[in-house]
Amino acid sequence: MQKTVLVVGASRGLGLGLAKQFSNEGWQVIATIRNPQQSDALKQIPQVRVETLDMTDAQSIEALGKRLAGMRLDVLFVNAGVAGPQNKPATEVNETEVGQLFFTNAVAPLRLAKQLLPMVNAERGAIVFMSSILGSVETGPGMGMSLYGASKAALNHMTRTFVSELGETGLTILSMHPGWVKTDMGGDEAPLDVETSTRGMVGQVTKALGRGGHHYLDYKGDHLPW
Ligand code: NDP
Repeated sequence: MQKTVLVVGASRGLGLGLAKQFSNEGWQVIATIRNPQQSDALKQIPQVRVETLDMTDAQSIEALGKRLAGMRLDVLFVNAGVAGPQNKPATEVNETEVGQLFFTNAVAPLRLAKQLLPMVNAERGAIVFMSSILGSVETGPGMGMSLYGASKAALNHMTRTFVSELGETGLTILSMHPGWVKTDMGGDEAPLDVETSTRGMVGQVTKALGRGGHHYLDYKGDHLPW
C-alpha cells in the first residue's frame, strides 16, 4: 500500500529535497510551506499536495489538522528550522532573538507533533524531528553556532520527554542529523548536496518503520552521541 508522509517546511532546502525524494520513492507527499507564493518548485513534483502552515502558530496547525482530517500518516517529518542570529556571540543576542530561535527550533516542533499525533499510524509509523549534530551535548560544543546547537539540544531533550509520555506504542521517533548540506542555512562550503542527504534520510526513515524507540541518527544511519 502507498505510504504517506507530511513534510513540514518544504519551500526550499532539505524540506523541498525530502518532498522530491519521498515522491521519487513512490510515497504520497503532503508538503507544507509558510508562503503560498513559494509553491512553484513543489508543484513540479508528482504526487505532492501542498498545504500552508506556519509551524509556530498553533491555530495554523489546528487548521491544517482539520484540512487533513481522516488522513493517516506513515511519517510526520518535522523539518522546519531557523539558524538564529549568526553574526553575534551567544552572549550578545537579545531576548527576542533567543526567544524566536528556541521557540521555532525546540518548542514549535513538539507542539506540532502533539497536535498531529492522532493522525500518525501508531502501529508502524514514525515521527522525525530534524535535529543536528550541533545539538549533541557531547560533540556539539566547539563546533560553532553554539546558540543554534543549544536550540537543537533543547529539541532533543524535549523529544525525549515526548517519547517518555507516549507510553506503549509502535511509533518510531527519530532525531535526525542531515549532514552538513548546501542550502541557504548550510551555505556553499557544505560538503553534501541536498540529494545525497535526503536520499540517505528517506532510506533511514523507511528502514526504521516498525522498529520503535527513539534514535539519534545521521543521514547514513550512524548513531550519534546524545
Ligand atoms: P533552509 O534555511 O534552507 O530552510 C528552512 C526551511 O524551514 C524553509 O522551508 C523555511 O520556510 C522553513 N521554516 C522556517 N521557519 C518556519 C516556520 N515557522 N514555519 C514553517 N516553516 C518554517 O534550511 P535547511 O533546509 O538547511 O534546514 C532544514 C532543517 O535541517 C532545519 O531544521 C535545520 O536546522 C536542519 N539542519 C540543516 C543542516 C544543513 O547543513 N543545512 C545541518 C543540520 C541540521 P520559509 O521558506 O518560509 O522561510
